[in-house]
Amino acid sequence: MRTASSLSARARGKLLRELTPYLDGYSLYFNLPPAGGRTERLAEYARVGSRSEVSGRILVPSPGHVELGNEVRLGSLRVDSGSYLFVDHGVQDAGVICRDRHCIKTRLKEYTGSYSGENQVTISVDFEAGVALSHATPETWPYLRNFWDSRSCVLRLAELFKKYRIPATWATCGHLFLDGCSGDHGFDERDWQGEWFSHDPCSDYETAPSWYMPDVIEELIKTPHFEIGYHTFGHFRLRHCSEATVRRDMELARQIRKKWGLKLESFVFPYNECGHFELLKEGGFTNFRGNIGKILPSYGIIDFGDFRFFNTTQMFAPETMDRCFRLLDGLDGRAANFYTHCYQWGERDAWQKLEQWLARLAGLRDAGKISLAKMGDLRPARPVESKPAVTVGEPCWNR
Ligand SMILES: [Zn+2]
Ligand SMILES: [Zn+2]
Repeated sequence: MRTASSLSARARGKLLRELTPYLDGYSLYFNLPPAGGRTERLAEYARVGSRSEVSGRILVPSPGHVELGNEVRLGSLRVDSGSYLFVDHGVQDAGVICRDRHCIKTRLKEYTGSYSGENQVTISVDFEAGVALSHATPETWPYLRNFWDSRSCVLRLAELFKKYRIPATWATCGHLFLDGCSGDHGFDERDWQGEWFSHDPCSDYETAPSWYMPDVIEELIKTPHFEIGYHTFGHFRLRHCSEATVRRDMELARQIRKKWGLKLESFVFPYNECGHFELLKEGGFTNFRGNIGKILPSYGIIDFGDFRFFNTTQMFAPETMDRCFRLLDGLDGRAANFYTHCYQWGERDAWQKLEQWLARLAGLRDAGKISLAKMGDLRPARPVESKPAVTVGEPCWNR
């Protein structure tokens, strides 16, 4: 017995010693394996991209959020309670970073923001249909069959939103705007499983309707309290994309704006993976929904002056409706974003529950307890000057 417990104590001690370089009581950081490993370690408070070097320590007192993009080198980092920092791709920096405001740091600029004070509840729907299958191997297609069938789910969701006058932002993949295509969209990039469009049917909406849905988009546009947003052209993971891909994507978004007469100003990051803020902003987007720090539920809309970031609160789907009902009770006038994927409503029948939830949401609105809005309805409360990026080694903030 004694032997067993001393063995276990020794094992615990050894484990702790092994882990010491990685975490301590109230700071948490990871030195990641070298390039090629594609390991992405998630923790409650910090998420550090691959190929990063964190030679110092990251201090993130709860409930700070930290997320670092790829190829970041940082000496030391501190995020104050309640704020978050997102460092975009290609930023190399060192020194102490102290924060009492939210910060998104791109290669060119550093944006700081604070809660906008607006407390709308927004609903967004990720509308990707068959395009999202471009990242799946054909063997998994039967399992993902509902992606193909999401056309009927979109229309049914739209009917329910109309019935209860729920504003909604449909974050639509660019490929769905096409009537047909040749398969060549001007992207050179490969994704993590092959070519982005390796399963593109190179056809048209009559032959392969899951990849082309101009008719559905036309239908959605008719409803004034619906907004058409963007979800990248081909459901790209922004952390894995080159600048050239994002620039090409922005060019295609411009073409969609022109051809369809849309504002197309709200952008939802596929997989909630943020990145390339600078290029997206240049490309005409002013509202972003994603996830920084993987802390859910996350409330609030953060005004960065040139753009706004909607914290993602909760996904609503057949399997999460009980949680969504509970969250409605705790909104307390806070801004929240609930989102869903069209295909999820084809996987399990939960339409009745969804309708009850939407009716509850509408009831709270009608009672004046919450206000509902599209992402594009909000206007920045005040312009905030963005600051130039800090130079290497220079502390960018002193408390
Ligand atoms: Zn295509
Ligand atoms: Zn998506």
